[in-house]
Amino acid sequence: MVWRRQKFLQGLICLAFAFPQTPLAAETSYVDIGQLAARCEAKLKYSDEGDCAKIDAGKFEIQCRLNSALYKIGGTNVYGQWPVAGQRGSLRIAREDWERVIVPLLSPFPAQQLRRICIDPGHGGKDCGARTQRTNLEEKQLTLDVAKRLQKLLQKRGIDAILTRTSDCYIPLENRPAVANRSKCDMFVCIHFNAADSPNAEGMETYIVPHQGAASTARLQSPSTGDKKFCINNRHNERNLCLAHCIQRELSSLKSSKDRGVKRGRFTVLENANCPAVLVECGFMTGLQESRRIGNWDHRQAIAAALCDGICSYGAGRK
Ligand SMILES: [Zn+2]
Repeated sequence: MVWRRQKFLQGLICLAFAFPQTPLAAETSYVDIGQLAARCEAKLKYSDEGDCAKIDAGKFEIQCRLNSALYKIGGTNVYGQWPVAGQRGSLRIAREDWERVIVPLLSPFPAQQLRRICIDPGHGGKDCGARTQRTNLEEKQLTLDVAKRLQKLLQKRGIDAILTRTSDCYIPLENRPAVANRSKCDMFVCIHFNAADSPNAEGMETYIVPHQGAASTARLQSPSTGDKKFCINNRHNERNLCLAHCIQRELSSLKSSKDRGVKRGRFTVLENANCPAVLVECGFMTGLQESRRIGNWDHRQAIAAALCDGICSYGAGRK
């Protein structure tokens, strides 16, 4: 299994240089998924319709779909920047997504020392955040509740955890990562709950900042001028992704939780953090079923436990 994995990883990395690039869009280039699988000696399977492909390299599996930027990597949803191109039975993956998303998530990374973690309960004070319709719970109360639960769980595992706020007070966005930076934290985790116009929206998602020059997931391949600037947190691109993947895997394993994936967004709180940083949306307060679950303390305890497990699995590294 180890040999096979090494072969697979070598293949992943070599392919970045070995194959002619076929430009299918003005801003990026693509690589044929069949060549990728052959080079890695991994099995490639297409769906009957030919619009979905699965690369099976033993322990690792990548799934993708024509015209979609959503990949399933190791069982967890992760958005790339570019939709899969090509045609049925012959799919192509954007080179940038392969280098920035697939390779980092399948490559080993060393164990990370987690001495101190900064937890940021979203909103507070005059900024209430979203609200549940029937029970009239405010997002600022729920994020603080989950943050305090997570703090206790991390402390039980011997990790010092500090909060950007411990009471119902307003803290400007730019002051929040400053707490993590000042205290030399090894990680910054922002906790939020989601809201949408549709009562059917549900599930959890984990955000990291996009690479310099790349667009947010909501806009996919259409970067704006603001996307060109480098932010402090871009120093941690790869570790952000590994952390987000570990956390999203745990969140989406919660009972009745829909996996909305690892996404990218230019949030001020993330951009200014000088350590690996994620923003988790722990479910929709506007969702009919989900808002009921969010109102239960045992569900919020389960969310905190999933966050703690994700953080610790990132800390353990990957061989
Ligand atoms: Zn929020």
